[in-house]
Amino acid sequence: MVSKEQVLEALKSVIDPELHRSIVDLGMVREIQIGGRDVRVTIALTVPNCPLRDQIAADAGKAVDALEPGINVEISLTSMTESERDGLRERLHGRGQSQSNSPAGNLNRVKSVIAVMSGKGGVGKSTIAAMLAVGLRRKGRRVGVLDSDITGPSIPKLLGVREPPTMSPLGIMPPQSSTGIKIMSINLMLEDEEQAVIWRGPMITSAINQFWNDVFWGDLDALVVDMPPGTSDAALTVMQSLPVTGIILVTSPQDLAGMVVRKAAHMAEHLNTPLVGLVENMSYVICPHCGERYTLFGKGDTRAMADAFNTPFLGEIGIDPQMAELGDRGAIEQYDSEDFNALIALGDQLIEKAPAPKATGDH
Ligand code: ADP
Repeated sequence: MVSKEQVLEALKSVIDPELHRSIVDLGMVREIQIGGRDVRVTIALTVPNCPLRDQIAADAGKAVDALEPGINVEISLTSMTESERDGLRERLHGRGQSQSNSPAGNLNRVKSVIAVMSGKGGVGKSTIAAMLAVGLRRKGRRVGVLDSDITGPSIPKLLGVREPPTMSPLGIMPPQSSTGIKIMSINLMLEDEEQAVIWRGPMITSAINQFWNDVFWGDLDALVVDMPPGTSDAALTVMQSLPVTGIILVTSPQDLAGMVVRKAAHMAEHLNTPLVGLVENMSYVICPHCGERYTLFGKGDTRAMADAFNTPFLGEIGIDPQMAELGDRGAIEQYDSEDFNALIALGDQLIEKAPAPKATGDH
């Protein structure tokens, strides 16, 4: 017969996949009952809808099961009380140097932050940011999207996410898309999606800082940032608030690409952040009847600009009604097109080359 002490010892090897600490250290083991060969363990999750609940239960089951042949292990899950959560928050918060009120910043490990920028609105910046996240996720990367386009947030809509973020002792828990992309956007906090957000610089700065420091992103390979349109104040504010690894610029053939690229390059230089690639969206359309490729707006000069600024050209993305339609109904994750290959490959390289991840609270 096993003892409670043995069970507790075994459970010490069960690591919370997001917090990287033992469930015993985190105070998640609520009760151990032993009756003959039956062992019943109750584990209190930090939040009731914890996405990792099945994994934690399975790991705990295995750890106890391995103690002795022939024992019957039953793991039941519950969630922490408000005061247990407060206690955990205090303990976790005490561990780091974060200035924020939540421990998230100390617990987050984000490898690369990729900012997707455009010269003006409507060129498909959000759609491309979403597709970059989708492509990296398909490659098995752990991805988040921070929607910093505060005045026109469209990321939740594109990725079909509606539920508001939940509060946990670890910070604000970002909701996830169907393939597991973590999302944070001001839109998720508004009662009415259509509500226009008219914010001034300092409020944008504080929202972005919160999205970075107080959101529990956990371990991410890439955080894709959908930037406010343009290269002026709002974009600059965001760039200054986040440790951006690289900037990707989206233009359209109608853009005055030369001017846009010059401004973006200037901003990148000013912030000491590399411009890592240029994408031209809405470059062409394929006739649904004859299959011919038309460049409706004439040939853009993005490729030439990329060469002039010594920045990789990540290709032309065609106008595809299917992409717009899937985006409109929150199903952009179902879209696939070779046009995104170079963009996604670049994102992958940025992750590969990134140094060891930093806690967001260290920034
Ligand atoms: P931005 O973020 O630059 O304002 P969005 O990504 O919101 O732009 O795109 C604006 C609109 O254009 C959306 O309705 C989107 O579905 C559509 N769109 C963007 N790129 C394409 C494309 N390549 N093909 C078809 N529709 C597109």
